[in-house]
Amino acid sequence: MNTQVFETPIEYLKGVGLSRAEILKKELRVFNFSDLLSYFPYKYIDRTRFYKIKDIQPDLPYVQVLARLTHKEIIGDKRTSRLVAQAQDDTGVIELVWFQGIKWIEKTLIPGKVYVLFGKPTFFNGKAQMAHPEMELYSTDVQQRKGNLTLQPAYNSTEKLKQYSLDSKGILKLVAALLEQQLKEIHENLPLYIINRFKLTGRAEAYKNIHFPEDAAKLNEAQHRLKFEELFFLQLKLLKNKLLHSQKFKGNVFESVGNTFNEFYHHKLPFPLTNAQKRVLKEIRQDTQRGVQMNRLLQGDVGSGKTVVALMSMLIAIDNGFQTCIMAPTEILANQHYQTIKELVGDDFIEVGLLTGSTKQKDRKVLHEQLENGQLKILIGTHALIEDKVQYKNLGFVVIDEQHRFGVEQRAKLWRKNTIPPHILVMTATPIPRTLAMTLYGDLDISVIDELPAGRKPIQTVHFYENQRLRMFGFMKQEIAKGRQVYVVYPLIQESEKLDLKNLMDGIEVMAHEFPLPDYRISIVHGKMKAADKQFEMNRFIKGETQIMVATTVIEVGVNIPNASVMIIENAERFGLSQLHQLRGRVGRGAEQSFCILMSSHKLSHDGRIRLNTMVKTNNGFEIAETDLQLRGPGNIEGTQQSGVLDLKVANLVTDQELLIQARKCVEGIFEKDPQLTAPENLILHQSFKSKKDGLSWDKIS
Ligand code: ADP
Ligand code: MG
Repeated sequence: MNTQVFETPIEYLKGVGLSRAEILKKELRVFNFSDLLSYFPYKYIDRTRFYKIKDIQPDLPYVQVLARLTHKEIIGDKRTSRLVAQAQDDTGVIELVWFQGIKWIEKTLIPGKVYVLFGKPTFFNGKAQMAHPEMELYSTDVQQRKGNLTLQPAYNSTEKLKQYSLDSKGILKLVAALLEQQLKEIHENLPLYIINRFKLTGRAEAYKNIHFPEDAAKLNEAQHRLKFEELFFLQLKLLKNKLLHSQKFKGNVFESVGNTFNEFYHHKLPFPLTNAQKRVLKEIRQDTQRGVQMNRLLQGDVGSGKTVVALMSMLIAIDNGFQTCIMAPTEILANQHYQTIKELVGDDFIEVGLLTGSTKQKDRKVLHEQLENGQLKILIGTHALIEDKVQYKNLGFVVIDEQHRFGVEQRAKLWRKNTIPPHILVMTATPIPRTLAMTLYGDLDISVIDELPAGRKPIQTVHFYENQRLRMFGFMKQEIAKGRQVYVVYPLIQESEKLDLKNLMDGIEVMAHEFPLPDYRISIVHGKMKAADKQFEMNRFIKGETQIMVATTVIEVGVNIPNASVMIIENAERFGLSQLHQLRGRVGRGAEQSFCILMSSHKLSHDGRIRLNTMVKTNNGFEIAETDLQLRGPGNIEGTQQSGVLDLKVANLVTDQELLIQARKCVEGIFEKDPQLTAPENLILHQSFKSKKDGLSWDKIS
C-alpha cells in the first residue's frame, strides 16, 4: 500500500467531513484511509437470485423476490398507523409493512406493477412478511443490471453511526468512493515468488473484491489472499522478533552431559522415560548447546511427566556448573515439587532448597548464602525466588510451572539473575491447539508431551443428571469403602458468587447428612477461607484423615494426591472445557482406576451438552482444547486477550488453521535462507516493519 496516501486522515475522504470523521473514529476506530479499507463486510447479500415466495424460510437472511403488488392500505389510527401491502408471484402471497415514512411510500407504490422486493423475511401467523422492504420497479433496466448486481456487502454499523447516515449503505458508499479514488495506490506487499507459489490474487484486486465481489469465486480468492497476507505478516513479525531475540541474548552453553545426570538416569530414575519425554529432553539438550538463550514452552497433559523432564534438564545444567530453580505459582505446589524432587534424587545426592513466603527468616538467610556461594544447586519456590535480594552465583536454568500465572515482567526479572540470562523452560498443563500456540507464543519454542506413561489407567468419566444423585452417593461410598478419597467440586464464579456460596453450603449440608461422622470425615476448602485454614484442611485430606474434600475450584492447579481417585464436579455444565479438564486431572495419579462424575441439571445449553459429551468421550487435552477453540473462538481462550490475535481482521484462527500453518512454514523458509531479508526478492518485506499500520505491530503481541 502506498503508506502515505493511506495514512490520510479519514476526514479528507470526500463525503466524510469533520463530524462524520469524529463518529467513525469513535465507533469503528476508523482513523484513516487504510482503516476504512480494512473495515471489511461482515457478510454479503446475495442479489443474484430471486426467491419464490413459497421457498421463503424464516431463517433466511435477506431475500430478493419478484412479485406483483396487489393491494395497499394504510391502517390504524394516527399513532399506530402503518402501511400494509400485498404482493404475489405464481407460488404465493407475501405481506409487506411499513411503520415509518408511510405517506411518502404509499404514494410510490403502484398496484398491478411488478416489483423487485428486497428485505429480511419474517413469519407472522404462518405467513411470510417483510418489514420495510426495499422496493424497485421491475424493468428491463433492472434486468440489464442483473448482470452485475451480485453479492452486496453488508457492513456492521451502530445506532450512533446511523444518525449520521452511516448505516451499512452509507459505509458502502464511502468505501466505494475510496476504492474508486485510490485503487491504483494499493501496491503489492508480498514478493512475486510467494504470490506465484501460493497462487494468490493481487493485492489491489483482493481489496476490490472483498468489498465488491464480482462473484462468489472472486470473493473467495480475495478473502484467501487477504487472510494469507494477514497471517503471513503476523508470523513474519513473530519470527523476526524471535530471531532478534536470539541474536541479542547469548545463552550459556551446556557442553556435556556429566555424572549427575548419568547417575540419576542409570541408578535413580524409577521408570523408563516415555518416547515423548525423551524427545523433549533431546530438544532441550539441543537448545542448550547452541549458545543462544532457550525460551521453551513445554505443554503436556496433567500426569504426562513434565516434572521429570524438567529435573533431568536441570541436572545437565548442574553438570555444567550452573544452579537451577523451579518457580511454582502457589506454596502448595512449591511444597509438592520440593517433596517430589527430593524423593526422586534421594538423600546426599544434590542439595535441594525450598523458598516460599513462609520460609523462616533464619532459614532464608542460610538459603541466600548457599545461593550466593553456589553451594545450593536446586532451589524450588514461589515468586519469592525472584525477589531482588535473592542472588545466585551462577543461575543457568529456570523452570516455570503453570506459566499463565506469571507475567512477562516476572519472566524478565528472572533473566536478570545472571549476566548471561538463564535458559527458561515454561511448563503448562493447559494444552492449547498448536496453531494458537504458534501465534500466542510465537516467541517461544514449543515442546509437547503427547503420551502418558505406560500402564496408566485412563480416567473413566460419566455424566449424571440430578435424578441420579443417589447413585452417585452410592458410588462414593463404595469407593471410600475401598479406601479411596473423593473430591467434590462446586463452581464459584464471580458474577453469582452469593448464589454459588449458598449452593456450596447447601451441598456441604447434604454431604454431611449423607456421610455422617464418625464413619466419614469431610474437608472443606473454598476461596473465602484464610490461607492457613485452607492449608490445614488440605493437609488433613493429603494425610488421609478425611475421605471427602468438598471444594470450590481452588484445588484446580497441580495438587497431587494419588489416593484421591474420584472427582465429582457439581453443576458441571457451568464450567468451561479447559477447567473441567484441569479439574479431572486431579485424579488418575495413583495406581487405582480413577473416575470422574459430571453432575448436571437436565437443562443444558447446546454448548454445555457438547462440553460434557467431549469430557465423557476423551481424556486427551489437545483434543479437548481443540473443541474448546471451536466452541468459543480464540478470543476466550486463556492468554489471547492481551495477545493481539484478536486484532485479526479477515483470518480466523479456528477456521484458517491450515492457512496459518502454510504461512508459518513459508516464513520459516524465508528466514532460514535469508535471515536479514536482504535478498532482492525479499526487500519488499522490509516495508512491513516500517509501517505500523500494515499488519500488526509487534508491541501488541509479546
Ligand atoms: P505433570 O507435571 O506433567 O502433571 P508429573 O511430572 O507430576 O506430571 O508426573 C506424574 C506422575 O507420573 C509422577 O508420579 C511421576 O513420577 C510419574 N511419571 C513420570 N514419568 C513417568 C514415566 N515415564 N513412567 C512412569 N511414571 C512416570
Ligand atoms: Mg506438574
